[in-house]
Amino acid sequence: MKLIFLGPPGAGKGTLATRGVEICKVPHISTGAIFRSAIATLSPLGYKVKAIIEEGKLVDDETTILLVKERLDQQDTQAGYILDGFPRTISQAEALAGFSAVDKVVNFDIPDAAVLERLSGRRVCRKCGMNFHITFNKPKQEQVCDACGGELFIREDDQEGAIRKRLEVYREQTLPLIEYYRNQGLLVDIDAQGLIDTVVANFKKALGIS
Ligand code: ADP
Ligand code: ADP
Ligand code: ZN
Repeated sequence: MKLIFLGPPGAGKGTLATRGVEICKVPHISTGAIFRSAIATLSPLGYKVKAIIEEGKLVDDETTILLVKERLDQQDTQAGYILDGFPRTISQAEALAGFSAVDKVVNFDIPDAAVLERLSGRRVCRKCGMNFHITFNKPKQEQVCDACGGELFIREDDQEGAIRKRLEVYREQTLPLIEYYRNQGLLVDIDAQGLIDTVVANFKKALGIS
């Protein structure tokens, strides 16, 4: 199954994608995670995108599209994938349509207040990128990743100013994708509020997975 996860920052896309990988047996492709890992390894891509990401702006379409195209050229994506955080602009969606046909676009329905609460308590593993929350999804041991033992940190773009900017960018550039995909009959809305297990259940029901 070829899926796109669409929703505001902090909607829980990455968290559900981790569960979706087990349910759908497809790889999770997060453009944000790829950029963060490029920054961590000080690669030329990381150097190029670091300041943009920390300010909460979008990386340019050309760079992002090329990155996803190369990733989708790899064998493990042939049977399916979960694209998390891409596309984020109409141009990205149009480019994607030229190289891959998605089955469904899962739209995370969530109010701003919940998003702010989630982003302000988010902690991310420096090593494997897994998401935690200081209240809603606590690691077993404080500041340590359950999956790999890596150190948990606060993303630079989860500071108040960058959060505000990202929500603004979401409304201006990404929100139009809801109508874009609805018009193509691909959109599936899921209620992204509630406990993680509830959201997982909403996701399975919306996709007809038992
Ligand atoms: P969140 O889901 O919290 O918004 P992501 O991890 O998806 O965060 O993305 C982090 C940042 O990486 C974005 O704010 C943006 O700067 C950059 N980024 C990720 N995906 C894209 C994309 N498709 N187009 C442009 N920039 C992107
Ligand atoms: P996104 O990838 O959409 O930016 P994340 O998956 O990183 O969002 O989730 C944002 C924050 O909210 C993380 O700290 C995560 O642990 C937490 N979170 C995710 N899903 C839920 C949920 N259903 N209820 C409460 N907190 C959640
Ligand atoms: Zn980890």
